Amino acid sequence: TLLIHLKMSGRLHIEPVTAPPDSHAHVVFRLDDGNELRFHDPRKFGRVYLVDDPGKVVNKLGPEPLDEDFTIERFAEMLSHRRGRIKPLLLNQTFLAGLGNIYADEALHMAGLHPLRTADTLEPNEIQKLHAAIRSTLQQAIEHRGTSFDAFYLDTRGERGMYQSQLQVYGRAGRPCYRCGTPIYRTVVAQRGTYFCPACQPQP
Ligand SMILES: [Zn+2]
Repeated sequence: TLLIHLKMSGRLHIEPVTAPPDSHAHVVFRLDDGNELRFHDPRKFGRVYLVDDPGKVVNKLGPEPLDEDFTIERFAEMLSHRRGRIKPLLLNQTFLAGLGNIYADEALHMAGLHPLRTADTLEPNEIQKLHAAIRSTLQQAIEHRGTSFDAFYLDTRGERGMYQSQLQVYGRAGRPCYRCGTPIYRTVVAQRGTYFCPACQPQP
């Protein structure tokens, strides 16, 4: 099994074999169709693993939000043991795999939950909303081919993602909430820039 972690600046490109070589392409895969899949990473934070047992690399990860077995019941059970704040918990990849800073803020806004809510105080209807919000945020982001908020993220065809135009709170400090018109706040939670609507996401 081949596993690739893009980290901050990694990028996968599909290029014809005849395309000029790329000094930041640290791993190149020859494909059957005459193209190459190039792993381009100027900052070299990314990782490529070739392993017999993917469990050795990914066992420590929490469930995938888009998997069928990530049910509301399972999510409720996961949250019930946790006394930490909800936003850092959503970013903790051993708790839940695949949610980064932007999508955590977007999901919390969609669910109407303040980022500093304590995980084990969420009511069943709030857990249900958050579960739906996480899945729908990720599904929409995939449909829009990701978020190119800075210059780093491009898809395999070298194109920018389009989800940045859908963002409701992330990067919108001081601008009106699309739902209620209240200016979006920016704060720092667990050392990450965090955006929320103080009206839609009331303080605990
Ligand atoms: Zn609002």
